[in-house]
Amino acid sequence: MKVSKFGGSSVANSEQIKKVLNIINSDDERKIVVVSAPGKRFKEDTKTTDLLIRLYDKVINKLDYAHKLQQIIERYEEIVHALEMDDKILDNLRNDILRLIDVYQNKPERLLDALKSCGEDFNAQIIAQYNTQLGYPTRYLSPKEAGILVTDEPGNAMILESSYEQIYKLRDYEETLIVPGFFGYSENDDIVTFPRGGSDITGAILARGIKASLYENFTDVSGIFRANPTVVSHPEVIPEVTYREMRELSYAGFGVFHDEALEPLYKDRIPVVIKNTNAPDDKGTFILSERDTSNLSHIISGVSCDKGFTTINIKKYLMNREVGFTRKVLSILEEENISIEHIPSGIDNLSIIIRSNQIEGKEKRVLNKIREQIKVDELTIEYDLAILMIVGEGMNKAIGTASGATSALSRNNINLNMINQGSSEISMMFGINEQYSDIAVQAIYNEYFAKETAQL
Ligand code: ASP
Repeated sequence: MKVSKFGGSSVANSEQIKKVLNIINSDDERKIVVVSAPGKRFKEDTKTTDLLIRLYDKVINKLDYAHKLQQIIERYEEIVHALEMDDKILDNLRNDILRLIDVYQNKPERLLDALKSCGEDFNAQIIAQYNTQLGYPTRYLSPKEAGILVTDEPGNAMILESSYEQIYKLRDYEETLIVPGFFGYSENDDIVTFPRGGSDITGAILARGIKASLYENFTDVSGIFRANPTVVSHPEVIPEVTYREMRELSYAGFGVFHDEALEPLYKDRIPVVIKNTNAPDDKGTFILSERDTSNLSHIISGVSCDKGFTTINIKKYLMNREVGFTRKVLSILEEENISIEHIPSGIDNLSIIIRSNQIEGKEKRVLNKIREQIKVDELTIEYDLAILMIVGEGMNKAIGTASGATSALSRNNINLNMINQGSSEISMMFGINEQYSDIAVQAIYNEYFAKETAQL
């Protein structure tokens, strides 16, 4: 039994929904289906989830929200009419939204999550009803009926382990189940959403819960590219990666699959495949717990680069002799509720790399505290750092990967602010100035995948 999840662009309009149902109805193993809210139909379009957030803003600021509500209903109206369905369902949708606004008007966090959940919830109801109309036994199942119990952190829910027993029972349904992604229910019966893009997480939870043979994640590309296609033209699709590789690549910007979705799958080693709704016969990218690295055609699986990091550099002569030095620095950051990413260090120096949005507005206070409480010799802060990540299971057996990468970067006059290789030896991380991000990705891609055509 497979779990199949369809992202926002796959269910953005009636044409896409027809493609989705063709895919589902063509394979008896596709019994459990997770859908997102209608996403963008064209580049400048707005996702339904964002429309719902705008509606929330109007309601909470006591502004007239009739127009926003109408815009949301129109997204579904377009689908319902094009699918020639009874438009009574539209009245139900409108009444549902009005009821939520009424119930939660004095509880902003609850209202936001409840409204955000409508995007997927309405879409799942429409898709289930339409497939039934086509003659396929299909049932809409709310996350509550499915047994998705989550922690009570609005916008940031996490699954409760106790859910899995209940979810396993979904195997007993005869019909195809359409479950809305992106939210679950707290033990107090409140709607709580996962982080943005969280329908992937719902799919992963259900795949683990029913012990699926495969979790299919359908999107609008034919898999995961070896490098960002807006930087490298026509990069190769990665045929397979391990969970570990995927985690490292998504850390530095690969957004095709939500990184929190790996966690439930990892535990029971459920394979994932990223596929294209518009080209379902393309093989896609498999994400697996292990892969055979004895005969690899490429040592590197992919290269990614994420901008927006800040570094605090500290120098102190004989730092290595001072017991508790690092702890003192870190406790200042902890006091300020700043999470840190990396701490490369030398004998007498230490750098702390932080995502810039973590420290924004707090820089002065943090530096003053370090100066006052730790007595350092030199203290500087640098902005505009990018993290370049080169990932590949083959790296721990190959010799010369680092030299290939550093020479490709040096040929392009890119200065390396930091080099880091974790003990797992499946990734190498370089700190570079943001302005070189694209050149660096292109240089590494050429070095490992397109050497023959390399211009660099
Ligand atoms: N609709 C939600 C979002 O836009 C969740 C998802 O699509 O996965 O973030």
